[in-house]
Amino acid sequence: MGRVAEKVALVTGGALGIGRATAELLAREGAKVVVTDVKQKEGEEVVARIKAQGGEAIFVQHDASSEDQWKAAIDASFKAFGKLNIVVNNAGIALGKTVEDTTLAEWRKVQEINLDGVFLGTKYGIEALRKSGGGSIVNLSSIEGLVGDPGLAAYNASKGGVRIFTKSAALHCAQAGYGIRINSVHPGYIWTPMVEGLAESEQTEKYQRLVSLHPIGHLGEADDIAYGILYLASDESKFMTGSELVIDGGYTAQ
Ligand code: NAP
Repeated sequence: MGRVAEKVALVTGGALGIGRATAELLAREGAKVVVTDVKQKEGEEVVARIKAQGGEAIFVQHDASSEDQWKAAIDASFKAFGKLNIVVNNAGIALGKTVEDTTLAEWRKVQEINLDGVFLGTKYGIEALRKSGGGSIVNLSSIEGLVGDPGLAAYNASKGGVRIFTKSAALHCAQAGYGIRINSVHPGYIWTPMVEGLAESEQTEKYQRLVSLHPIGHLGEADDIAYGILYLASDESKFMTGSELVIDGGYTAQ
């Protein structure tokens, strides 16, 4: 029996990076997975890989910042698998700009995806999990939701918002007795397409600067975060809610 056997999980931004690693790990551990992303081709490839390994999954093209598309993604989960027990609000974008360089339109775009998307996924996730007898919601924040970076103004604000919003929603569900736990995850720099976009390659000075911020001596891999999400998604973490799981190679320990 896998660690999330019999459960149905929805992972946003599941086509690449941390979302892809999470979707594939949850499937290996027995969950049926709804992979959602704006990227159709890459999302369908993730579903094909899960099926090739004997797992069950569907792809839904889904912009996590769209309320209508959230309703459709959750309907697709009930139609395919009859329920939903786990929601991983992973979709997000980065913007490497200071407060002075950031336009209002850029600021709003980052909040729309990183914060509104997590709000919608939590709101409609709670509704779906209640119908399914409870479960777990995991929201991707960041080390950038814990400490500031002068070059990540809008991103810092969005990830700080995810951190404290998660606690509010977790307390609400606990007080209501829904059997729904909600926690946030705080990765350090992980070598995914998002960070490849910032550092360009492993040969650049930017890459070495990022490495130097992590006392452990290297960047993380997508699986390092997927294993933490698996723990929070599974019943192994049944006493955790409103918590912050930091997986950052010591970045915030200093
Ligand atoms: P990634 O490599 O950029 O992959 C994210 C995926 O989500 C991409 O397929 C992306 O498509 C998709 N996406 C973007 N906006 C979306 C939307 N509105 N609706 C649905 N899908 C959308 O990112 P990642 O590094 O795996 O990061 C995943 C999460 O972890 C993010 O929330 C990120 O902020 C957080 N995080 C990452 C790191 C890190 O170092 N990598 C550290 C801390 C926290 P497009 O490529 O078309 O945008």
